[in-house]
Amino acid sequence: MSKVLFLAVVVAVVAAGVPANAAAPAASPANPLLAPWSGPYGGVPPFGAVRVEHFKPALEAAMAEQLKEIDAITANPAKPDFANTIAALERAGRTLNRVGAIFGVFSSTMSTPDFQAVESEMAPKLAAFGDQITQNEKLFARVAAVYDSRGTLNLTPEQKRLVWLDYTGLVRAGAKLDKPAKDRLTAINQRLASLFTSFSQNLLADETDYVLVLDKEADLAGLPDSLRQAAAAAAESRGHKGKWAILNTRSSMEPFLTYSDRRDLREKVWRTYYNRGDNGDAHDNNKIITEILKLRAERAKLLGYQTHAHWRLENTMAKTPERAMELMEAVWTPAVARVHEEVADMQALADKEGAKITIEPWDYRYYAEKVRKAKYDLDENAVMPYLQLEKLREGMFWAAGELFGFHFTQVKDAPVVQPDIRVWKVTDAAGKLVGLWYFDPYARPGKGSGAWMNAYRNQERFDGAVPTIVSNNTNFVKGKPGEPILISWDDATGLFHEFGHALHGLNSSVEYPSLSGTSVPNDYAEFPSQLMENFLSTPEVLNRYALHYQTGKPIPKELVERLDRAAKFNQGFKTVEYLAGAIVDMKLHLAATPDKDIDPDAFERQALAELGMPKEIVMRHRTPQFGHIFAGDGYSAGYYAYLWSDTLAADAWEAFKEAPGGPWDKDVAKRLHDHVFSVGNTIDPADGYRAFRGRDPGTAALMRKRGFPVAPKVAAPTPATQQ
Ligand SMILES: [Zn+2]
Repeated sequence: MSKVLFLAVVVAVVAAGVPANAAAPAASPANPLLAPWSGPYGGVPPFGAVRVEHFKPALEAAMAEQLKEIDAITANPAKPDFANTIAALERAGRTLNRVGAIFGVFSSTMSTPDFQAVESEMAPKLAAFGDQITQNEKLFARVAAVYDSRGTLNLTPEQKRLVWLDYTGLVRAGAKLDKPAKDRLTAINQRLASLFTSFSQNLLADETDYVLVLDKEADLAGLPDSLRQAAAAAAESRGHKGKWAILNTRSSMEPFLTYSDRRDLREKVWRTYYNRGDNGDAHDNNKIITEILKLRAERAKLLGYQTHAHWRLENTMAKTPERAMELMEAVWTPAVARVHEEVADMQALADKEGAKITIEPWDYRYYAEKVRKAKYDLDENAVMPYLQLEKLREGMFWAAGELFGFHFTQVKDAPVVQPDIRVWKVTDAAGKLVGLWYFDPYARPGKGSGAWMNAYRNQERFDGAVPTIVSNNTNFVKGKPGEPILISWDDATGLFHEFGHALHGLNSSVEYPSLSGTSVPNDYAEFPSQLMENFLSTPEVLNRYALHYQTGKPIPKELVERLDRAAKFNQGFKTVEYLAGAIVDMKLHLAATPDKDIDPDAFERQALAELGMPKEIVMRHRTPQFGHIFAGDGYSAGYYAYLWSDTLAADAWEAFKEAPGGPWDKDVAKRLHDHVFSVGNTIDPADGYRAFRGRDPGTAALMRKRGFPVAPKVAAPTPATQQ
């Protein structure tokens, strides 16, 4: 999981965006956000000089500047052509891109209350700015003129694709509508923005307000020491010193349900967590969802699409909801069959222990853990001493060297926003500068949880070569000076995943910045990162970099083999809890109409019953708490994207496994670079994949990866090519 897409959306809003009122106050010339980035490496972000009060005047000035740039394009008396319209658009908004990049860093990693106040004030202004550009009739007329004459303009394939993306992007945003329809569209977008905010705030309130305080040692039965300590600290910080608090968040709920011997408390924690946003109180999200679904359906109709899902998927690799559903349904059946096997294993174990229970949803994680221990004898605590954060970072650098010829050198001449952040210069095999990689590893107040990649500057070369600047962000707890930070296998996998996004950015070799690096459709963006996860478990990386922090010895082979075997364990549960959500997401957005009130709870119940949802599992995100799809448009009708990308990643990994050189085969790595990692969005993803693999992707590799039987007639993600 990554925030790369979420951040891309935030930055895209900022980057696409213009102020609702053009009377922006003049910014002080001393505002460091407005100056071009100076210093080495093609200029670096002026993190050291930025203060929160710089953002508002800088954003307003940058939006005003971009509006003037757009005006200059539309006022040009010359006939619209690629250079004076499309390339000029690529050049517009550079100041806002720079300010927006740093605004995004503060939003995700330095979010103090004074910054949040600026963010709340600026978010609607930035949204309105976006509508102002997409609804600019003169601009659309010029872009359309270039699009109509694209056959006679002698354009390169990359230029043709950029013209097509600019034109269809404006059309998709409503550029062809008449005035009343445009006004209605703007009203819908503004109402949706408020509903998204309310949805998130309700969810946050339910996660913050519901805390289970335990006051007896006996209530902690089964919990490992680390969890007890975390629960004690959580209680103390909430004014319950000497007690233990279980928070209503995934990172508290999951370990509690995995280890607690107290079935009554497991049920309580489970019910509280899965009822977030669904308690019939002031923070209930059901009515909000009903309204969002209606407005999205109305917007899709206004724009000429059958449903919101058809609108959202048009510019993805899947292209249509039907193709996405086909893949999900193909994986659904074997995943459910696997769940029945997993439940049978757990029930047998519970019976053997004399538990006298039938497995319920709040028992799944608990008994799954017991089965895992019994079947694979795998204890997380035996693996962690070999997983030192800094050694694994060196392992990622080594892998990037083998695959792409990159070399990493730490530098001290790039300012950082916080002293724990380090910066590396990345060069290619010829010693030429490729870009910078910022690493922000530790948790701190004001920094979002989880792990993600972010690009501060996209690679481009149409106006002279500009190297990219990318960052990886994680939330490890900072250790004592000189002590290694030991991380879990899951976190090590996550580290390689995010580094995969970074390498997607660093390998970019395109002309135009809006086509650069990770600027690809959602269902393709997770492919490079999910593929990169595989390189962690290669013997070459493990033997060199998974070293015991005390003895320096590499991780034992038999431990790796146990990890490997356990990788397929519990895939029924993981696949079904994810896929149920992805299918309900798609069905909701296919079923919604502008005038039908959908009751989310009833819809969810009926859809799951039709699917044959195993009664021992619930959706990973139940509808009233499904932030991916109701806290913004980003992943709406798009939660399937993770499965789509994983299908590609599994299929691509088999290309390496089949090659003479295995994971480090130079020919496969070169094809991966040439057709996937370097091309950004300059070609259709389906064409890029086909050029890399020599054929379209199939689902067999995904089935093998998850340990499901490979059906002979499984639908493959083979999208139609776009023009
Ligand atoms: Zn990701």
